[in-house]
Amino acid sequence: MKNYETVIGLEVHVELATKTKIFCSCSTAFGAKPNTHTCPVCTGQPGALPVLNKQVLQYAIAVGLATNCTITQYSKFDRKNYFYPDNPQNYQISQLYLPICRNGYVEIETESGKKKVRIHEIHMEEDAGKLVHDEWEDVSIVDYNRSGVPLIEIVSEPDMRSAEEVIAYLETLRQTIQYLGASDCKLNEGSMRADVNLSVREVGSQEFGTRTEMKNLNSFKAIAHAIEGERERQIELLEMGRKVVQETRRWDDNKESSHAMRSKEDAHDYRYFPEPDLVPMSISKQWIEEIKKHQPELRPAKLSRYKKEYDIPEYDAKILTESKAMADLFEATTAICGKPKKVSNWLMVETMRLMKEKDIEADQLSFSAENLAKLVDLADAGTINSNVAKDVFAKMFEKDMDPEVYVKEQGLATVNDEEALKKIIQEVIVANPQAVEDYRAGKQKAIGALMGQTMRATKGKANPAVVQNLLIDYLK
Ligand code: ADP
Ligand code: MG
Ligand code: ZN
Repeated sequence: MKNYETVIGLEVHVELATKTKIFCSCSTAFGAKPNTHTCPVCTGQPGALPVLNKQVLQYAIAVGLATNCTITQYSKFDRKNYFYPDNPQNYQISQLYLPICRNGYVEIETESGKKKVRIHEIHMEEDAGKLVHDEWEDVSIVDYNRSGVPLIEIVSEPDMRSAEEVIAYLETLRQTIQYLGASDCKLNEGSMRADVNLSVREVGSQEFGTRTEMKNLNSFKAIAHAIEGERERQIELLEMGRKVVQETRRWDDNKESSHAMRSKEDAHDYRYFPEPDLVPMSISKQWIEEIKKHQPELRPAKLSRYKKEYDIPEYDAKILTESKAMADLFEATTAICGKPKKVSNWLMVETMRLMKEKDIEADQLSFSAENLAKLVDLADAGTINSNVAKDVFAKMFEKDMDPEVYVKEQGLATVNDEEALKKIIQEVIVANPQAVEDYRAGKQKAIGALMGQTMRATKGKANPAVVQNLLIDYLK
């Protein structure tokens, strides 16, 4: 078999976090009763006129600036004509000729180092409604609540060569856009959707092969599977002397295979023409500068600041800044207690362990920075021992509460009273003659059993280091 290289370009749709739709004032809130967030504009009634939501334009420019694009100062909308029941106007307002952002790039990092993935363009468009087929026999029903929700489509150049690079690219986009507050970018809820264009070619070849486009990918795992599956399918065709057909394919992650949906349409199939109901946009340099000035701190800047300002390892800084919610929590907690490395440890170890166990994201954490700071202080001062601290944290993770109050109420403070401890230790020694004998005969491990008994007698509240020292003294 010949040696093949995979070539991948992505079209990523992102739902913008505006309160209202792109061309009308209907709400974009998710999960409402079907067809309640609708009006004549977003249901395509004759005579209804669209008006552009300025916030959409602002978010699109912000994303463009953060991805090193040139902003198109004279930009226009175009009409893309197609008939489909989820598209009540029978056209979609999109951008073909003068997309809002062009010629950008993002830098990705994989095992093999850093690399730039170029962005061809970012354009604005409206989302379609949603068809529901599954629960109904013989009929399909339609919900227009999503119709007119603002989207940006980020089109990359075919610069990626592996699933690993694709995922790094998507992660970078997601982080950047989340940091900007322009979208929550959830693949599983559809606020970020990736179409994967893939072709293969012989290593060393200068020309690209024929590509297919895969849709319906709603997790990183599905994307990785689909890339592997499609690469193999195309190589198999070429090895048999056959050709890859340019088409749109639907990936079925349960079956781990794809099937052709339709042959690929070209732009001229859509009869694009300039949208007559909207005036072109003329974007001033001043406004672009203003948006640039108000851009929040993005991840690369945050990373270098963390290393300087908090003196934490690069490893910690990278993990803490993976999501904005986690970074915000770290900064707020550290601002209160002033112990960056200790806060980092709590977030990276216990918090992330429980997040994984409960399958939640950083933006769903419910405990406050104030209470985490109190817990860090309680543990740091030795008021509670580390095992108790973990238990208290687990409670706080479930339901936010003041750990100082809880420790007092439950009597969890560490027993540091040596007299009380000595009394308990004497009882333990009397009750465990065998362990005492073993220890004295040179079995160091036997002290573990005595420690365990003592800790149990104090309900886990003793300071283990103090107990150990006292025990060693007694057994001399
Ligand atoms: P269309 O508008 O017809 O979908 P585009 O030229 O806009 O086509 O490309 C869509 C996406 O496909 C882009 O992300 C681009 O990088 C990618 N792409 C184009 N050619 C190839 C190819 N030969 N192999 C892989 N990806 C490709
Ligand atoms: Mg396209
Ligand atoms: Zn509407």
